[in-house]
Amino acid sequence: MNEIKTIGRALGQAADGSLMFFCNGCDEPHRIQVGDGPGPRWGYNGNPNAPTFTPSVLAKGVQQVTDEEHATLMAGGHVEPRPFVCHSFITDGRIQFLGDSSNHLAGQTVDLPDWEESWNRW
Ligand SMILES: [Zn+2]
Repeated sequence: MNEIKTIGRALGQAADGSLMFFCNGCDEPHRIQVGDGPGPRWGYNGNPNAPTFTPSVLAKGVQQVTDEEHATLMAGGHVEPRPFVCHSFITDGRIQFLGDSSNHLAGQTVDLPDWEESWNRW
């Protein structure tokens, strides 16, 4: 997971071949498995500058703890996990967040951010 190489404007690639894009809705990277192999796989247009993935991408999980929450946890306190849903279509380098996404970009379509810049900042 640490060794991510930039393969184009909008994508990074992990050592296992999976692709990574940065999601401004969740403010974190999402991983996509393409090509042959176990688990769910996505269709990919092969363009890391303006990728298209099919079908839609659904990311679910728990949001990262904030610095404040981290401090609470370290002090032995309780922090309620904040689940998220991020459902999107990625087409020609743009990401359309569907209405069932829990993030602030639900219902909007935006350009995928620059991968390397976002990853380095994260
Ligand atoms: Zn997301």
